[in-house]
Amino acid sequence: MKRPFLTLEQAEQICQRYPTPFHLYDEQGIRGAARALNAAFAWNPGFREYFAVKATPTPGILKLLKEEGCGVDCSSLTELMMAQRCGFSGQEIMFSSNETPAEEFRLADQLGAIINLDDLTHVDYLHQALGHVPETICCRYNPGGVFSLGESKEGFQVMDNPGQAKYGMTREQLGQAFTRLKALGAKRFGLHAFLASNTLSNDYYPALARILFELAVDLSRQTGCQITFINLSGGVGVPYRPDQPANDIAVIGEGVRRAYEEILVPAGMGEVAICAELGRFLLAPYGHLVTRAIHEKHIYKEYIGVDASAANLMRPAIYGAYHHITVLGKEDAPCDHQYDVVGSLCENSDKFAIDRMLPKIDRGDLLVLHDTGAHGFSMGYNYNGKLRSAELLLRADGSVKLMRRAETPEDYFATLVW
Ligand SMILES: *Cc1c(COP(=O)(O)O)cnc(C)c1O
Repeated sequence: MKRPFLTLEQAEQICQRYPTPFHLYDEQGIRGAARALNAAFAWNPGFREYFAVKATPTPGILKLLKEEGCGVDCSSLTELMMAQRCGFSGQEIMFSSNETPAEEFRLADQLGAIINLDDLTHVDYLHQALGHVPETICCRYNPGGVFSLGESKEGFQVMDNPGQAKYGMTREQLGQAFTRLKALGAKRFGLHAFLASNTLSNDYYPALARILFELAVDLSRQTGCQITFINLSGGVGVPYRPDQPANDIAVIGEGVRRAYEEILVPAGMGEVAICAELGRFLLAPYGHLVTRAIHEKHIYKEYIGVDASAANLMRPAIYGAYHHITVLGKEDAPCDHQYDVVGSLCENSDKFAIDRMLPKIDRGDLLVLHDTGAHGFSMGYNYNGKLRSAELLLRADGSVKLMRRAETPEDYFATLVW
């Protein structure tokens, strides 16, 4: 059963200052997740989490994660600029982008960030853009084919399609990229791969680690390059549905440690640092989209119209993603009404829930959409002239801090030429 991290009374109090809809984040939850992650990998002295900025590009969140020892993983110019303004520098910044413009490589290099190259052809592109290659550099691997884990009667625990993904280099290209980078002056190398998204399995990271560790041993023998870090990237998921079991990050860290001791240590590579670029795992459960029921409609189905829309949270509309809903103040009421909970966009996909069993909803009720802390606000957009909402932080002491104000019509009109 999913419980919101705020009560109806707290929510109504917040609404007096910040009207719905808004995104609210739980400081304690975020800090707890970051600490659990760091503890799970404490066996690796060089371990660092580079929070994937695209999941929640909000300075108030990034600074909090910085206090917990995290770096940032950026993938665009403005994400790099935000990281810089939040006080991240040098190797606290990973730059894992693709189809990257030259000016973005230049800013990443000026900041001293670790650049993660997505393709073999980017080696010379980077060299041309910078006039040199950085001494520390990373390359992204794509093994192709289908990646799956844990077959059972119910199907695979994890299944994704690297062979259809636009990212990364083939094994052969990695050898060429390392050799070329070394000839151009690179001294320390990293390997990166992202094979499956939102995995609910403690085996994903260890399986990925095994692939990358064996590859690292192989590549260092083939090219003579010194591999100093392995980046396991994102992909550790969260249970969006109440009946799904959560990952155990301590078990995941232990699984990676076993692979490390079996593969890297015997090969004389026991100094390699592990990196992660988790976004969803650190933030998703600790964000709520809070919205108010403003309409009900009875036609061929029962509809509840809320004041948030897919412009605030796009995942249900574009992926059919499930986000659990709690009606505040009715946490323990029986779920004996079936609703479509819908936003106001002129798009029939603007449905937060379809045929969802919920307590009876009255106009004016406050609804929490769960697990919106990552890839929630950040994927928002301005379709139908909808304005982006505020982002608020619920602190450990119960106070609320504004991290981003809601957009106004003036913001929306600011770029127009009349
Ligand atoms: C999106 C992304 C991440 C974060 O993924 P999560 O599923 O949020 O953990 C990490 N690294 C890269 C390169 C990404 O594109």
